[in-house]
Amino acid sequence: MAKKKAPINEEEEEDEDLSSDPIYELNDLPGVGEITLKKLKTSGIMSIRLLAMYPLSSLMEDAGIGEKTAKKLIKAAQDIEQMGFKSADKIWEKRRVMRRISTGGQNLDDLLGGGLEPGAVTELFGEFRTGKTQLAHQLCVNVQRSHEDGGLEGGALYIDTEGTFRPERIIQMASAKDMDYQNTLQNIVVGRAYNSDHQILLVKEASKIIEEKNIKLVIVDSLIGHFRAEYVGRGTLAVRQQTLNTHIHDLLRISEMYDEMAVLVTNQVSSKPDVFYGNPITATGGNIVAHGATIRIFLRKGKGEQRVAKIIDAPNLPEEDAIFSITEDGITD
Ligand code: ADP
Ligand code: MG
Repeated sequence: MAKKKAPINEEEEEDEDLSSDPIYELNDLPGVGEITLKKLKTSGIMSIRLLAMYPLSSLMEDAGIGEKTAKKLIKAAQDIEQMGFKSADKIWEKRRVMRRISTGGQNLDDLLGGGLEPGAVTELFGEFRTGKTQLAHQLCVNVQRSHEDGGLEGGALYIDTEGTFRPERIIQMASAKDMDYQNTLQNIVVGRAYNSDHQILLVKEASKIIEEKNIKLVIVDSLIGHFRAEYVGRGTLAVRQQTLNTHIHDLLRISEMYDEMAVLVTNQVSSKPDVFYGNPITATGGNIVAHGATIRIFLRKGKGEQRVAKIIDAPNLPEEDAIFSITEDGITD
C-alpha cells in the first residue's frame, strides 16, 4: 500500500480505499467440519471476523457447540484476523478517510463531526416526539445517497420494536431529495420485533442480510421498550441488564466487524424525581446502555418544529448543542 503524506482533510482518490480490510468467508477457516460450519452460519456467524469477536460463552450458547470447539474456533479466527495490537497511526489512517452519514441538518452534522459515524453505536435518547424515529427514517434515506451527497451508497436495516416505521415518511423524504422512492424503499429492510427475544434474534440474524444487501446502517428503534415492559419488578432487574448487555454487545460487534457500518439505537427517558438540580430526565437502561453506546445524543423539543440535540458522551466530541427541524421534507436545519 502506497504511503501518503496527506493533510487531514485532503480528498481521497476513489480507487484507493485505505479503510478496507478483506472480509474472510467462514469457509476459509481451516479444519472446520461441515456440521460446525452449518451451526455457525445458522446462528448468523457468516464471517471469520465476527467469529473472532465473539465471546466464548455466547458462541457456545448461540451456535450450540462445546467449549473446546468454541475455543479452538475463536483462536483460529483471531489468528487470521491478527487481532493483537496495532499502532495508532494505522487506526488514524482508517479514521482519516472515514465517511459519515449526513443527518440532513448541517448544524447537527457539524455537532457530530460530519454526520453519523460508522464503526460506532450512536444512541439517540429523549422524550417522545423529540424526533428519534424521524431521524432514524431520514438516515435510512441518506445512507443510500452518493458519497458527495453525504451517503455511504448502501442500504439500511431497521429493527422496529414499536411499530412506528412508516414507508410513507420514507417516500416523502426521498421525494424531497429527488430520489426514486421505490428504489429507496427497496434498500431498506425492516424487521418488526414483537418482543425482546425476537429483537435479539433479529440482530443476531442481521449479518445474514448485511452483506447480501450491502447494508451500511443498522437501526434499533427503540432499544429498551420491550425489555422495560417484559422485565417488571426488582427481582428481574439483574437478568434484564445482563440480557440487554449481551444485546448491546451484539450491536457493537456489528458496527465493528464491517468496514463501513453505522449503528443507531433510540432510547426512551424516564424522569428521576430525586434529582433537584440539573436535568431530571435520564435515559433508560442504566449504565449498561450508557457504557455500551459510543456516542450519546440527548434530544429535546424546541420551538415548533425545532428540536435541540446535545452530545452527552462521545470519545472525541465536545458537549455542545445543535438545533434541527422536522419538516414534511424530513430533517433540515
Ligand atoms: P420520537 O422521538 O418519539 O420517536 P418522532 O421521531 O416520531 O418522535 O417525532 C414525531 C414528531 O415528528 C411529530 O410530533 C411531528 O412534530 C414530527 N413529524 C412527523 N411526521 C411529520 C411530517 N410528515 N411532517 C412534519 N413533521 C412531522
Ligand atoms: Mg419513536
